[in-house]
Amino acid sequence: DVKESLNFIEQIIEKDEETGKFGGRVHTRFPPEPNGFLHIGHAKSICLNFGLARDYNGRCNLRFDDTNPVTEKVDYVQAIEEDVRWLGFEWAGKFFASDYFEQLYQYALQLIKSGDAFVCDLTLEEIAERRGTPTEPGQESPYRNRSVEENLDLFQRMRHGEFSDGSKTLRAKIDMASPNMHMRDPVLYRIRKAHHHRTGDQWPIYPMYDYAHGLSDSIEGITHSVCTLEFEVHRPLYDWIIDRLGIYHPQQIEFARLNLNYTIMSKRRLLELVEGGYVHGWDDPRLPTIRGLRRRGYTPEAIRKFAERVGVAKRDNIIDVALLEFTIREDLNKRAARRLAVLDPLKVVITNYPEGQTEQMEATNNPEDPEAGTRSVPFSRELYIEREDFMEDPPKKFFRLAPGREVRLKYAYIIRCDDVVKNENGEIVELRCTYDPDSRSGQDTTGKKVKATLHWLSAPHAVAAEIRLYDRLVTVEDPAGEKERDWKEFLNPDSLVVLPNAVVEPSLGEVETGALFQFERKGYFCVDPDTTTHHKPVFNRTVTLKDDWAK
Ligand code: ATP
Ligand code: MG
Ligand code: MG
Repeated sequence: DVKESLNFIEQIIEKDEETGKFGGRVHTRFPPEPNGFLHIGHAKSICLNFGLARDYNGRCNLRFDDTNPVTEKVDYVQAIEEDVRWLGFEWAGKFFASDYFEQLYQYALQLIKSGDAFVCDLTLEEIAERRGTPTEPGQESPYRNRSVEENLDLFQRMRHGEFSDGSKTLRAKIDMASPNMHMRDPVLYRIRKAHHHRTGDQWPIYPMYDYAHGLSDSIEGITHSVCTLEFEVHRPLYDWIIDRLGIYHPQQIEFARLNLNYTIMSKRRLLELVEGGYVHGWDDPRLPTIRGLRRRGYTPEAIRKFAERVGVAKRDNIIDVALLEFTIREDLNKRAARRLAVLDPLKVVITNYPEGQTEQMEATNNPEDPEAGTRSVPFSRELYIEREDFMEDPPKKFFRLAPGREVRLKYAYIIRCDDVVKNENGEIVELRCTYDPDSRSGQDTTGKKVKATLHWLSAPHAVAAEIRLYDRLVTVEDPAGEKERDWKEFLNPDSLVVLPNAVVEPSLGEVETGALFQFERKGYFCVDPDTTTHHKPVFNRTVTLKDDWAK
């Protein structure tokens, strides 16, 4: 695709290339904290960072921001790598902020020596209480004027584990009256005697995010450190630390994070959904996690296209989830083979069709792709149609099958409903129909005009399948904004509908997990991994053929 205009980050990069600011280099990074699974918001950041590197012949690192020992796990590291690769990106280098712990410690000693950092004996709560308000200055710590020697001694002892958790911190000495709260002598290190998934028990002190992040960028030679808007107010601190140390200085650039309506994206809430059993794991197709989207049938191409369509904004906004659905629909329309499936079968007997006879009907594999060709679909005396395609007493606007009415069976014949068979409860169990032998598709000599074309399957040839239909997980547009109500109140009880008695055409008897299809008239579906453990294929509906929600 040819870019029509540059986004504001590309403009900055091109200007930097002109002025030679970074020697013409472009080096970005994607810096996840390995404390959860990636979601569509992260995908936006991945596409942006890796995309910039690709477009400007640059490099993009994958850096695990693993400075918080308690919440991080090795499993997450592996899952994140897998998800980034699945999205179609490969990193120039893989790094861990924890690899820099020694270097970060040396930088801290340097800040102490230059009088820019001090050891503080206040607890984190006491520090918070003394920070002041945006309009009133905070109180200086009574430990602020310790000598360099004392600070060096105390910090080295902190590093050697002499003090208990929370009893001391290392703080930057900046300005307790700064209008920017982040500049009010922020904490750089805290004592935390916890086991780290990579450094084990080597470190009883851990650097804070604001300290570790910018320095990691500097160490890696990052040129453009792209992050979300909430870090704009952290930028003065990012710059201050690097300037005081006099080391290589990357440029932090903020963009608006991706927000999607009807979507839960907070890591904490996603965890609650999974742990509370409201969904069936991190790859539940209803979740906006990369794994969930993948299992739902989203393709990496569609997610990348979506990220591009959303663009890069400087102001917070909310994107309509319908844009994501539109993008996958567009992608699948081009690539998905068409198949026949009946989700809720109703038996049809063609009384004038010979018993035991089977005809092969020619069906188009993909009208969008002439090269996809055709396949044969068997037709016989006993068929299934969709239960909702018949009404005994149809209202005016219902044009599908009804008693005495004719419709076309796609790729096959015109049939007429003669009789309705019911069980003792009055439920319709079978339709008795007749077909017009002169109406075969492609050879129709009847001149009949019918108002509906239905999909169908030959009953003896049909393959039993389970079909899962998904809908929005929440019923409110802005779940994060619902502060008053318990979020479980707006979970959609019908977000998953399982159809255990569906049938699909014989060619779908053997399918591979992840394979994508369009079931004619019913939407786009993909093969769920449960297929390997169930005794029949299981299909997830990725998206309907049209936007059901559009009015
Ligand atoms: P938390 O801060 O709650 O741990 P996070 O969502 O910030 O979670 P990180 O692992 O720190 O998760 O995120 C990695 C990168 O992904 C960061 O650079 C972050 O800015 C970016 N990112 C996260 N969520 C979004 C989003 N909704 N839109 C765009 N970028 C995002
Ligand atoms: Mg974060
Ligand atoms: Mg988050």
